[in-house]
Amino acid sequence: MIVFATDDIKKGDEICISYINPLSNYLERKKELSGWGFICQCELCEMDVKDPMYSERNEMWEEFKKFSTEFLPKEIIAKGEALLRKIRKSYIDGNKYKVVLAELLWILSSAYIQTGNTTTSVQYLEEVIKIMDNPLKYHYKIAEICVSLAIYYESTGDLQKSVQMIEKAMESKFCNDKSQFKLYFPEISHLL
Ligand SMILES: [Zn+2]
Repeated sequence: MIVFATDDIKKGDEICISYINPLSNYLERKKELSGWGFICQCELCEMDVKDPMYSERNEMWEEFKKFSTEFLPKEIIAKGEALLRKIRKSYIDGNKYKVVLAELLWILSSAYIQTGNTTTSVQYLEEVIKIMDNPLKYHYKIAEICVSLAIYYESTGDLQKSVQMIEKAMESKFCNDKSQFKLYFPEISHLL
């Protein structure tokens, strides 16, 4: 097993490791952790406990997730855009871990690409990267998103942005070495 630190470690700092997937919702995490006999007090859990919009947001999100597997891209966009406004508002209180917002943008981005609206699709993926610029990114599909964007920017001739995306993807996979990174994404060997 190789363990990477997601932050600089100062002398005396407590080092924590996640027992479970931190991207799952708070109640799921709490239930899973109850097997270890403690209530987690990490920054993420504390934030979710204090978040007054937590339950309402999660209900809306679960309903939409189900909807998105059963309907066409156009319908997903119509319902998803309405939900997007609500979800954005629900985070106004400053929860910095906006996983539901990132997930919704990601689903909408896929729907937009299927309807041929590449501009909005790319714009939403860029926003996902910004939103997830916190320690949760190491659990999230940031590398995959960055690689998709690297391919897109290459196709538009914006090589500088394409390179930036590859660098971000490599960082989120803890890769310094391009030959190692190729093993994750052989499809972009030509860009490395
Ligand atoms: Zn926690």
